[in-house]
Amino acid sequence: MHSTLPKPIGLYVHLPFCVRKCAYCDFASYAGRQADIPRYVDAVVQEITRRGAETGHPSADTIFLGGGTPSLLDEFQITRILDALFDAFPIEQNAEITCECNPGTLTPPFAQALRQAGVNRLSLGAQAAQTRLLRLLGRIHDWEQVIASVEIARQAGFENINLDLMFGLPSQTVSDFRETLAAAMALCPTHVSCYGLIVEEGTPICREVTAGKLVLPNEEVERDMYEFARQTFAEHGLQQYEISNFAREGYACRHNIGCWTRVRYLGFGCAAHSFFDQCRTMNPPQLDAYLAGEEPKTEQISKDEARFESMMLGLRMTRGVKDEDFTRMHGLSIRDAFGAKLDKPINAGLLEWHEGALRLTRLGMDLQNSVLVDLM
Ligand code: SF4
Repeated sequence: MHSTLPKPIGLYVHLPFCVRKCAYCDFASYAGRQADIPRYVDAVVQEITRRGAETGHPSADTIFLGGGTPSLLDEFQITRILDALFDAFPIEQNAEITCECNPGTLTPPFAQALRQAGVNRLSLGAQAAQTRLLRLLGRIHDWEQVIASVEIARQAGFENINLDLMFGLPSQTVSDFRETLAAAMALCPTHVSCYGLIVEEGTPICREVTAGKLVLPNEEVERDMYEFARQTFAEHGLQQYEISNFAREGYACRHNIGCWTRVRYLGFGCAAHSFFDQCRTMNPPQLDAYLAGEEPKTEQISKDEARFESMMLGLRMTRGVKDEDFTRMHGLSIRDAFGAKLDKPINAGLLEWHEGALRLTRLGMDLQNSVLVDLM
């Protein structure tokens, strides 16, 4: 008999400040609230210290500083947060430490401060190469600033750089998107996240689309864009490992893979979630409620929910869900957990077994929701 040590956890810090609210954004992010950053940093540092003690200081091997726009903090503020994490949790030697930044806000001193504080991965919201589309999205930058930010990051010593790109934008043509992909590939990122625009209710872009002032590309065009992106990335050595994520060998984002494989994580700041001790904890989604010290909400995850979650999250990845991992986590095999519910999506060619894992087929990737409904 040997005992298995618990896996190192992931740590997430939400930094919800933005220069301006993008037209499509429904994330917990706030424009015009920069004056609250000092107070917010104090609150986050306190939360990190308290949770470290409450959870018994588990070791961590990924940290993700997300937003919002973390690069709106100054060097001292971001370093304080990272120091608090390092004080409250033993951080593994080879930890992946990511900071999201927006072009137009990343400065050389900030990038250098990140490197000095141990950050080794930068994620840049690049989105599209055309100023026309960036304006329509309400982004604050142009492509020249994307190029400048990559340069600033490299100068500071960052080798692992992700670019976020979007497709399916109003008035975006296939040729616009090709141009964006070519411009992005010219910057040689190690990782790309490429998302189709989701028009969320209540956002300015949704109102414009509903009023007929903006027109989205049709589904077929959107599918062509996605296919073209997959091919382009493959040609540039960026292998797909998740529906929207592509990476060079060895550069898949470990933090996100941790979330998709239900590794425990702790989140700090407003709207941050945690998954720990079979519970999900949700911090208050509103900045003011968080600053006022409102309590998080916690819910226990039932065994059935946990099994479904493993499939919902794990099937996002091209490698699928390994039966061995599932059995280790849930005490029974995928077949035993889902039984005949697997037959329909397998027979329809949406799910397949491959090297001991259940994964979505190429067709299944497009129809993931219908597979999940079958497994519910
Ligand atoms: S930069 Fe990101 S978080 Fe901020 S408003 Fe734009 S989409 Fe939202």
